[in-house]
Amino acid sequence: MTDIYPILPPNVMPDKSPLVIAGPCSAESERQVLDTATQLADMGVKVFRAGIWKPRTKPGGFEGVGSVGLSWLKRVKQETGMFTATEVATEQHIVEALDAGVDILWIGARTTASPFAMQQIADALQGVDVPVLVKNPVNPDLELWIGAIQRLYNAGVRRIAAVHRGFTSYEKHLYRNLPHWHIPIELRRRMPQMPNIGDPSHIGGRRELIAPLAQQALDLGFEGLIIESHCCPDEALSDAAQQLTPSMLRDVLAQLVVRETSLMTETLTELRRQIDGIDNQLLDLLAERMRISREIGAYKKEQNMPVLQAQRYDEILQKRMSQAEVLGINPEFVKNVLQAIHEESVQQQVKL
Ligand code: PEP
Ligand code: MN
Repeated sequence: MTDIYPILPPNVMPDKSPLVIAGPCSAESERQVLDTATQLADMGVKVFRAGIWKPRTKPGGFEGVGSVGLSWLKRVKQETGMFTATEVATEQHIVEALDAGVDILWIGARTTASPFAMQQIADALQGVDVPVLVKNPVNPDLELWIGAIQRLYNAGVRRIAAVHRGFTSYEKHLYRNLPHWHIPIELRRRMPQMPNIGDPSHIGGRRELIAPLAQQALDLGFEGLIIESHCCPDEALSDAAQQLTPSMLRDVLAQLVVRETSLMTETLTELRRQIDGIDNQLLDLLAERMRISREIGAYKKEQNMPVLQAQRYDEILQKRMSQAEVLGINPEFVKNVLQAIHEESVQQQVKL
């Protein structure tokens, strides 16, 4: 899948700044949509998002305004010149959205998680040249995310971007949806051509988390951000706690640091993640070694044996220093590490 293209033509995004997609979680009224869109357009936002059909956990909540909202998006296009984007989950949504001139479609997290739904969407998009954003599935399953993307690709869709919106967790956390950054990092490794868009609104679930999460996404080399913005967030009919007013969004965007070498940073982050994993294992092993050491100490005490047995210690040093040579690490360094470990072991045994 090397022939995946950016979702917008290059003349729309001439510099290296990230693509910003902003707009309310849901289109609620013509006034709300146009008021929000006008403010965002004045700030230079190029793509306006608004959910028309909303996937809600339980029936009876606000399930979106439905088709009537499409005419409001049409007005946004006409009056502001912004591109428009909305969520589609069925063939009917796709037909209606495309008829109304919606420029970009997105697949919601619940839909990405359903292979049957994804196949129907892919079939409906066969031969249609429209950019599609694919949110990660609600569960942390990279293969399911890639599978959804492949279904669209196989249907001929070539302008595809992945949206990282975090993953649900049964336990309560700081975040509404856990970021599990290693998953989008691995997606990037597997599909390096595909643009990545961060969705700090749905990861954070709270206004004050948007800025740090957006920065983290940029630090990881994401090419874009999708951020929920509403002219009156407190009155929003969905996701009120995480929506920013356009002027709050302006401040968040102004403070973002766009790294020059995003690819470098991404590689570095992944390598650091690996180092952190190894350090974790080292500490677990050290703790286990100390535990066994204390067990030996207790045994020696029971048997009335001395704590320090010089010959055994010398054997350990000699053996590990030769092993270090074979492994290509400095034997002197290994000697220092073992001495420190041995010293602590002796301390632990003496204390018993
Ligand atoms: C949304 O973008 O408003 C939305 C419903 O997102 P998700 O599918 O990520 O929950
Ligand atoms: Mn939302």
